[in-house]
Amino acid sequence: PPLSKQRYQFIKDVVGKYKPKKVADLGCADCTLLWMLKFCPCIEVLAGLDICASVMQQNIPSYYLQPSERSLTITLHHGSVAYKDPSMLDFDLVTCIELIEHLEEPELKKFPEVVFGFMAPSIVVISTPNSEFNPLFPRVKLLRHPDHKFEWTRAQFQSWALETARCYDYSVEFTGVGHPPTGMENVGFCTQIGVFVRKYPQTSEFAQSEKSTEAVYKTVFKAVY
Ligand code: SAM
Repeated sequence: PPLSKQRYQFIKDVVGKYKPKKVADLGCADCTLLWMLKFCPCIEVLAGLDICASVMQQNIPSYYLQPSERSLTITLHHGSVAYKDPSMLDFDLVTCIELIEHLEEPELKKFPEVVFGFMAPSIVVISTPNSEFNPLFPRVKLLRHPDHKFEWTRAQFQSWALETARCYDYSVEFTGVGHPPTGMENVGFCTQIGVFVRKYPQTSEFAQSEKSTEAVYKTVFKAVY
């Protein structure tokens, strides 16, 4: 299957393992992952965030195929992961699939405090290209995509992730999708993935309500099924 499908499947497996009720996808683009996750029976709240409003809206379904017993709320927000917004509080799982390599340096600097410090979900999954795999792409010179601001080796991603985890009391484990061909195993996965798990439970509603912040995201879609 294509690499994007493998990344979405990886998230579905994480959902199957941890059974989060509330999931937010940051940099959700055309919401492919969100529309897949709405069929996961454990999920009650889904949110998407993207800095590009038009890409989010191009794929909104006008009907819902599988009505069910549970209620499901889906909200799409227009905004940047460089800014805190109260609509992103109280999530169990936050996913960032192929997002961080699109962030400018000032945005990337703010990202850990927004996602791990403010949103502080129990689980965060971050995926990004593994640049060590790039020589296996015949046409890739430096970066896989012109909009990428950087692509990291495993050592670069892991040192950033370990420092972030240490700072915000998370543990992190590394894996990936897209196996290298036989004989080239040393380059690692095509997509590298960090799975972060918060070490201590949030001191519940108190901690969340302490985080009074003004809303800066714009809601572009909301549906309750
Ligand atoms: N996560 C999707 C996937 O895996 O199919 C899309 C990944 S796409 C390569 C990166 C997305 O991040 C784009 O839709 C882009 O608009 C969004 N993005 C870039 N900078 C952002 C920011 N500062 N805040 C939120 N989204 C951002």
